[in-house]
This record gives sequence, structure tokens and C-alpha cells, in this order.
Amino acid sequence: MIVFFWGLLGLAVGSFLNVIIDRVPRDQSIVNIPSHCEVCQHPLAPQELVPVFSYLWLRGRCRHCAAAITRRLPAVELATGFLFAFLWNHYGLSSELPISLLYSCLFLVIFVIDLEQGIIPNKIVYPMLAISLALSPFWPDLGILSALLGGIIGFSLMLIPYLFARGGFGAGDVKLAAVLGTVSGSPLVIVALLMGIVGGGIMASLLLIIRLRKRKETIPFGPFLATSAVITLIWGQPIWDWYLDLF
Ligand SMILES: [Zn+2]
Repeated sequence: MIVFFWGLLGLAVGSFLNVIIDRVPRDQSIVNIPSHCEVCQHPLAPQELVPVFSYLWLRGRCRHCAAAITRRLPAVELATGFLFAFLWNHYGLSSELPISLLYSCLFLVIFVIDLEQGIIPNKIVYPMLAISLALSPFWPDLGILSALLGGIIGFSLMLIPYLFARGGFGAGDVKLAAVLGTVSGSPLVIVALLMGIVGGGIMASLLLIIRLRKRKETIPFGPFLATSAVITLIWGQPIWDWYLDLF
């Protein structure tokens, strides 16, 4: 039963994440402006602000100007609801619960902003570096030294493809790789980076094969690194052990 309420709480948090996704890249305040239609600017009434349900009730259109509402809104709300329910189930009441919730929300925000706009905002990455270093003593088997070392490894490893493979990676990817390191620590940062790079590579090839991507086009890398970061946070150790067992 509690897991159901966690899911609902996640839907509500997801709706706030949508506000962050819309406003942070545009340097707008995330608290001072009331929610409004992006097309006609009409402020939204309370019944238009209920996560997912309002989208369904409005059939995906603004009540005033009938402009289509982006499907990203309910998608982010549902994803956040799922993450909240899943992490509650996985960790229960523990110090890992709030920390994993915070990280997965921030990585979800990076995922969507990079996918939609092809940027990874410093305004999110820099605070994440500070937060993850500060929280590192509270995560099992991590600690400040491992987090720092992880950050340096992540940054340096991503610097190589950034400098030598022209295009494909942006400076934002390098900074995000440092965050992957401070969040997962050493040596799990290697799991996080490898999974992200391999995942992105496979997806880029698939899109090329099914002709959804032209040869010159690059795909945003942030979504793969962000997904990989959350997977490593939850299952990094078992994946690392499995990898070492191969030898
Ligand atoms: Zn409107």
C-alpha cells in the first residue's frame, strides 16, 4: 500500500521536474512564475495541474487555445512515479532511499534536457558535483576519497574521446562523466562510463541501420550516461563483481 503512495508522490515530484526541465535551460525562475500554457500563456487552474490525470482529462490539449501539450509532461511524471515506487521497494526506509531518489530525479532531468535540446546545463551539473561529494559518506562503501577519485577518473576517461574523436561528445558530457564518478566512486565509475558509452554506441548504430539517423548526425550522449549512472547506483557492485569473474 505504501508503495502506491510513493508512486503518487513521484508523479507530483515529476511534475516539478517538468518545470525544472522547461525553465533551467532558459534561466527562468522555477518558483516565481505560476505554471502556464507555453503557447497562449494562460495560467493553469488547479485541475489542470494534476500529474498525468490532467493530461488525460484535457486529451493532451490546452483548454484555452487547444495547442497540443507535449507528451513529455506525462512521460516524465510517470517515469518519476515509477522511480519512486521502485526505489522504495528496493531500499525501504534507509539513508539510501532519499539519496537515490535525489540522484535519479536529477539524472532524469539531464536525460530529458539533453534529449530535447542537446545541452547539459552547468546549472545542474556543478551543484550535482558538490552534492554528490557531500553525500558520499552516507552511501554504503563510498566515502569522500572514493568519490573524488571516481570524479577524476570519470573526467579524465571522457576527456580522451572528447579530444580525439572530433564531434560526438560535448564538453557537457565530460563534466557529466565527472558527476558519474563522484556519484558511483572508484572503481564503479568504470562500470557507469562503459555501460553508457557501449549503450550509446549500440543505439547510434541501430539508428543508422534502420535509417532514423544520417551518417553525419550525432546523437546526444547525456541520456545514456544518465541512465547508466542510475543503473550503476543501484546494481553497480553486482555488475562489477560479475565483470571481474569473467577473468
Ligand atoms: Zn494555451
